[in-house]
Amino acid sequence: MSRSAGAHTADPCPRCLVEEIRTGSLVPAAERDAVGYTCGRCRHSWSRPIEDDLDVYDIVRADLPERTLYGTVRQVEDDRVQVLDTNSGRLLWVERWRAVLY
Ligand SMILES: [Zn+2]
Repeated sequence: MSRSAGAHTADPCPRCLVEEIRTGSLVPAAERDAVGYTCGRCRHSWSRPIEDDLDVYDIVRADLPERTLYGTVRQVEDDRVQVLDTNSGRLLWVERWRAVLY
C-alpha cells in the first residue's frame, strides 16, 4: 500500500506496482472531470473521478505539490474544500480535485 516518502505519500502503479509520488493533474471532461496519473517507469496512465460527495467531517487526503495532506473537511465549495490539517492543526483551502476520501 501507500508509504511515506518525505513530505509526500508514494503509491504503487496499478500495472508495474512501482511506488512513486504522483500528484496527478486535472483532466476536464464533458460529463465529469477526472484526475489523471502517469507512471514514470512504465508510462501506464490512469485516472480517478473527482470526489463529488465530499462532506463536512469527511477524512481526506490531498496530494499537494509540496506535500501530502491528511485532514478533516470543514467546508465544501464548488471547486475547493477547507481542510483541517491533522498534523499542524491548521485550516487550509485545497482545490477540490486534489481531495480524496481516505
Ligand atoms: Zn508503472
